[in-house]
Amino acid sequence: MAIAQVLFPLMLPEPFDYEVPDTLSVRPGSYVRAPLGKQDRTGLVWRLSDAAPQRVLKPIQEVYPTPPMTETMRRFIAFAARYNVVAPGQVLAMALRARGGLQPSPERTVYTLGDRAPQRLTPARTAVLEYARTQPALSASALATGAGVSTGVVKGLADAGALVAAAEPVDRVFATPDPDRTGFQLSAEQADAANTLRQAVQKGQFAPILLDGVTGSGKTEVYFEAIAAALKQDPTSQILVLLPEIALTQAVLERFERRFGAAPAPWHSGLSEQQRRRSWREVAHGRARIIVGARSALFLPFQSLKLIIVDEEHDTSYKQEDGVTYQARDMAVMRAKLEQAVIVLASATPALETVVNVEQGRYARLKLSARPGSARLPDVELVDLRAAPPERGQWLSPQLRHALADTLEASEQALLFLNRRGYAPLVLCKSCGERLKSPATDSWLTEHRYTGRLVCHLTGWSMPKPAHCPYCHAEGSLMGVGPGVERVAEEVRVLLPGARVEIFSSDTALGGEATREIISRMASGDIDVLIGTQIVAKGHNFPNLTLVGIIDADSGLQGGDLRAGERTYQLLSQVAGRAGRAERPGRALVQTYQPDNPAMQALALSDRDAFLAIERDVREELQLPPFGRMAALILSAPDAETAVTFGQQIARAAPNGENITVYGPAPAPIGILRGRHRFRFLITAPKQVDLSAYMAAWLSRLKLPAALRLSADIDPYSFL
Ligand code: ADP
Repeated sequence: MAIAQVLFPLMLPEPFDYEVPDTLSVRPGSYVRAPLGKQDRTGLVWRLSDAAPQRVLKPIQEVYPTPPMTETMRRFIAFAARYNVVAPGQVLAMALRARGGLQPSPERTVYTLGDRAPQRLTPARTAVLEYARTQPALSASALATGAGVSTGVVKGLADAGALVAAAEPVDRVFATPDPDRTGFQLSAEQADAANTLRQAVQKGQFAPILLDGVTGSGKTEVYFEAIAAALKQDPTSQILVLLPEIALTQAVLERFERRFGAAPAPWHSGLSEQQRRRSWREVAHGRARIIVGARSALFLPFQSLKLIIVDEEHDTSYKQEDGVTYQARDMAVMRAKLEQAVIVLASATPALETVVNVEQGRYARLKLSARPGSARLPDVELVDLRAAPPERGQWLSPQLRHALADTLEASEQALLFLNRRGYAPLVLCKSCGERLKSPATDSWLTEHRYTGRLVCHLTGWSMPKPAHCPYCHAEGSLMGVGPGVERVAEEVRVLLPGARVEIFSSDTALGGEATREIISRMASGDIDVLIGTQIVAKGHNFPNLTLVGIIDADSGLQGGDLRAGERTYQLLSQVAGRAGRAERPGRALVQTYQPDNPAMQALALSDRDAFLAIERDVREELQLPPFGRMAALILSAPDAETAVTFGQQIARAAPNGENITVYGPAPAPIGILRGRHRFRFLITAPKQVDLSAYMAAWLSRLKLPAALRLSADIDPYSFL
């Protein structure tokens, strides 16, 4: 008898044994249903063996009609679980995030014209038949709506044999992309890079490549050539393109569609249940060829993954911070290695980790140094706010005010960047001095004027702005402090009364449709001044945009994050890069109180490599990543006392390790979140130490009450 070890998508330490009935065809990687506790659950056959069972096993109930998960994918799940110190079942849960995808698509009835004419013809019947003649197979309601009649007429025609009913899957397969359509005429530099990528794809081996090119240099066009090569190379090949979630707009998907004549399979948090199961099923069956998705798309069960693109590879949103923490870019490199696939990391401001990998010979680098045609990079100028600050109560310096006026005078467009949503990031009582916080959370409330609410950006909690201070009850004493995009918009409207001013943030552009609308109005010149949060930083082309103003360049530099400077540099240079994309030269004014900071200097000189060199030396000196390893252990408890007591116990249980240092427990910067008290240990180690194994050993020594939560974060980024 065969025994199947079935892994469930749950936080369980290992797979469980089941009997394989003779009637079922079960293979390693098969998706099955099997009894677990009181119910049947979906799981995955992790291994099969012929050993005689030691006890009576329950049988597998059902095998799904999905091709088994490949061995490589199973190895990837095991690797990701080990590396990130979680149970393999937790990673499997990420790979199985569309249950409906395991079943064939549901069907619906559609109608086409039959060859029998109905005996009785009414005007309504004629309308339906005329309409059906011009259409592909349609549902009864679509036919009825198109012909302007009731569905009863359609049914009547079907009964009379004039329309023929057929069953059609609700989830359509994705159209096959065409690699032979031609893209742009590439510049010599672009063509060289495209050739190298093509050759790498044709070799069919693991190859990590950094595609390092300034914004607008055509990185997308170049990696399109690699995709075309992979499509041509092998009729089963699948290609995964990862993008930061925020960049996954309809406009980007349409660009793929224009190039390959078929829409790619999408994967992101905004998909409907139906879209999600459709993409999942088509990927798992190996039919979807190009998949464009956010970080979680990395865990889709591809059948034949040959090429991975990680666009904007430096973007910190690739780091998943909740639940299973992982760095999708780093995991993608590992997946490519297991799959023997090519991986292209594209960026104008690559992460220091990636640059060091290039320097040490692990990754190849392709450079694109110019924008195609006559488009030029913008001139960046620092505005020293110490020398020429804005007037009291304003946020735009005199220099930026003049530049704005000049830009509008010349009938050109401006973009102001401030990474703070709402009107004011802090609400203070003038009377008692109290600052308003979110309930049971150490986070200030932000004032939103348009909605009249105070909002916690961390937990989403909100309330109408009260008329009285909740602490001292003074009336009308609550005051917003500091600038948000709404307040900057107010200032610009006063400065330039005739200007068309709009705000672009996740509050004003909820969902794809609203985002597309605002981008298209900006692109067509219907907006004069766009004021946006980091949502504006990504990949939009605004041909008439010549001025970018950065309101508060220093805001990202605060906080103890080891990547704060790097992140500020990346974000600001990306925003500045929005100016002057087409024929018009652009300029960027960067308002700062720290003009001597290396990140600001590098921006002003457009000297990324000098900045990276300084960052590199600092990190090497301090043996911080990527020169040393780092992990965090996060403890959360319902009250501070429990957290402190167990914090000490956890500290005592830390295994000894040569050159491994454990710091903490220290209170987290946001010490209380949704009523839970949070502490953090930081662990540093030399590069050669297996820190994942160390963390796993530590966790396995601990027996903690259920109210306590403990999770490891390998290579932590931010920590709130
Ligand atoms: P990146 O990904 O490096 O920011 P894109 O690939 O988006 O750059 O290219 C920027 C703009 O320049 C896009 O509108 C793109 O269509 C255009 N472009 C890129 N390469 C060419 C080319 N060889 N000929 C014409 N237009 C090009």
